[in-house]
Amino acid sequence: MGSIYQGAKEVLIGVGEQLHPDDYASVRRWLEGMLIDRHLTELDCFLARVLPLKSADPSGNPFLALVQSPWFTRTWTVQEFCLGERATLICPWGDVSWDVFVKAFLNWNKHVRGCCKEVADVQPELREECHRVYCHIQSLEHTRRSLNNQHILQAILLFMHLDATDLRDKVYGLRALHRGSDDMPAPRYEVPVTSPQYRAAAARVFIDFTWWAIRDVKGLFPLAFDMHQEDSKTPSWVMDLSMQPSIDANYWRRRLSGVGLHNASAGIPFVAELDSSDCLRVNGVRVGQVEAVTDAIVSLPTCNADIANMLRAWYEFATDRRVDSLLLDRVDSFVDAAVFDDWFCRIMLANQVEDTGTFRQADDSDLRKWRATIAEMMKLPSDPVDFTPIIELHMTAVLGRRMFRTNMGYTGVSPASTRPGDEIWILGGGAYLACVF
Ligand SMILES: [Zn+2]
Repeated sequence: MGSIYQGAKEVLIGVGEQLHPDDYASVRRWLEGMLIDRHLTELDCFLARVLPLKSADPSGNPFLALVQSPWFTRTWTVQEFCLGERATLICPWGDVSWDVFVKAFLNWNKHVRGCCKEVADVQPELREECHRVYCHIQSLEHTRRSLNNQHILQAILLFMHLDATDLRDKVYGLRALHRGSDDMPAPRYEVPVTSPQYRAAAARVFIDFTWWAIRDVKGLFPLAFDMHQEDSKTPSWVMDLSMQPSIDANYWRRRLSGVGLHNASAGIPFVAELDSSDCLRVNGVRVGQVEAVTDAIVSLPTCNADIANMLRAWYEFATDRRVDSLLLDRVDSFVDAAVFDDWFCRIMLANQVEDTGTFRQADDSDLRKWRATIAEMMKLPSDPVDFTPIIELHMTAVLGRRMFRTNMGYTGVSPASTRPGDEIWILGGGAYLACVF
């Protein structure tokens, strides 16, 4: 399959099929406006009242209909696009080159992050959908540039939130992007990716794929994908790709991008065996048993007070110390966020920060920056959340997580499914400590 796409001179991308013909001219004008770097205030699709509203759905915004084109949400389109030589969007009013489309959305992002932030907030759904398309464009471009040196796990990381009618295509639909695939020359990785087996159930495909990935990367990195839910039809060590990431895909990607920084199991040999009942046997050292977990699972905050309240509850849980200085209803009772010890701050950042796409371990100045930002947010509890980069990193570490305490008194942040009685292990070949349940 990959060889067909690889030989493609041009990939044609159909978008905007659902647009009403009366809206073609407007949508074209908006897209061209983005391309020549117009402010969003000059493009009425981003304003509160969108005129003309001629779409079949009178409440609809024609530009929203364009960015909601199914092409941007499908798994199969990814390798088709990335392996082709060039791409053109077939819009209802005519052809638009891919590069032009990319530039329009790069401009959109620049305005939304700066001068036109408030305008973009007027229509949250449109902002969200444009952001999704912008991220998808970035992921596609990144994948296309990395074709010569790419592992299928990287492609899965970028695209696992997309839809697939057949769940097995969550693996097979990205297979030709893997450098070691038999569709591509010069295999760099050791084990060829499992061939498409449409007679096997999706659960079997996910088990075989995860087991393949563990052997191929010679470590337990696939376990860090944390793709398991209570009703999964696969064992807990398997990447259940039928599950969409349970948190925002960007946070999920960033969480995994930092894995290379950590090596919890240094010195412990990596051993992995799969027995006939699909039980994975690994080598490790038990470090404790979970004694208690916080009730709440962290969700995306709606205001600064959400973050402050969560931190207070977690800090009290971890230390048994009442944090009276963080009474959020009265600004004059506020002392400062210095109450949080260094170890706590490090947990809240997963001990990692990102500088222009590269992750490194958090240092004292990062901890100070995080404290200062939290202190500012606590002073203004009713303001909308301002997602500064350091708060984005904090959310990357804690979103969708619980805090746990072990019988030895250690504290950490773990998947939502963690329960008292689960065990914490260091597993040979694992970057992080593992919660075994
Ligand atoms: Zn602007």
